[in-house]
Amino acid sequence: MADYNWLEAISVSEEMLMKTDQRLPVIWISALDCTGCKEAFTRSFEPSTLDTLLNFISLEYSELLSAASGEHVEAHKESIFEKYKGEYVLAVEGSVPGSDEFLMIAGKSVREEIYHAAKNAKAVIAVGSCSAWGGIPAAGLNPTNAEDVMAVIPEEVPVALVPGCPPIPEAIIGTLLHIHFHGELPELDKKKRPMVFYQKTVHMTCHRKPYFDQKLFVESYDDEGTRKGYCLFKLGCKGPTAFNACESMGYDRCIAAGFSCIGCSEKGFWDKGGFCGTVKRKRK
Ligand code: SF4
Repeated sequence: MADYNWLEAISVSEEMLMKTDQRLPVIWISALDCTGCKEAFTRSFEPSTLDTLLNFISLEYSELLSAASGEHVEAHKESIFEKYKGEYVLAVEGSVPGSDEFLMIAGKSVREEIYHAAKNAKAVIAVGSCSAWGGIPAAGLNPTNAEDVMAVIPEEVPVALVPGCPPIPEAIIGTLLHIHFHGELPELDKKKRPMVFYQKTVHMTCHRKPYFDQKLFVESYDDEGTRKGYCLFKLGCKGPTAFNACESMGYDRCIAAGFSCIGCSEKGFWDKGGFCGTVKRKRK
C-alpha cells in the first residue's frame, strides 16, 4: 500500500476533508453471495474502514453488519429510502437469482428488493464479480439462473462495477468516497469500472514481470523456478488479461504466494478456468 494515497487517487484536498459534514447514507443489500465482499469492505487500510464509517459513510443497512435485525432494521431501511431519496448509495453484493424461489429478504423477493432500493438511489455500486458479472452463482449450469445486478437496475440510475473475488477493499471504499466528496461516480471505463482502480492489468505492475521480460518461467509448482520466484505465465497466469490493481496496491498475495492470477475481476472467470484452470492448464 506504500504507493497508494487515497486522497490523491480520488482527488480529495485537505480542505475538502475539513468541510465534510453529513456522511453518505449507504444501503448494502446481499443477494447470491458468500459475504467475502463484505469482509473485504471491513478490511480497508487507506483509509481504514473504521475512519470511513466514523467520518464519511453512514452504513444504514446491511444484513450482516447492522447491529439491529428483523422488523426494526427493515423499517429503518424503508425510512432511509424516504428520508434520503436520491441521496443514498445502494451497494449490491452477489448476483441476482432468476426466480424468487432462491432468495427472499424479509418475505420479499431479492429481485424486487434491489429494484425498489435502486430506483431512488443516487448511484448503485455492484460490489464484487458476482454482482458485476454474475460470478460464481452464474457459472457452469447456473442452477438459479443467476444474473448480474444490471438486470434489475433501472436504466437511468448511474452504476459502477467494482469486480473482484473479492474486490480490493480500497476500491470499494474509494468508489464510495468519490461519491461522498464529489457527488458523483468516479470516471468509469467502457465496462463501467472506476478507471483509477481498473485501468491496468495485473501483469503491467506485477513484481514478477522482470522475469517475464527475461523469459524466466516457472514450469511446475515444485521446480527451481518456483523457488526463485520466476514468472507464472506458463502455469496459466491470467495477469496479462485481468484488469485490477492487486499488484499496484499491495494486494499481490496470490502471485506473491506462488499461485498464478485467476483473473477473478474479469467476466466469466470461473467458466474460463478459475482456480482449476490455472492448476490444469499449462502454456507451452
Ligand atoms: Fe504477468 Fe502473471 Fe508473470 Fe506476473 S506472474 S508477470 S502477472 S504472467
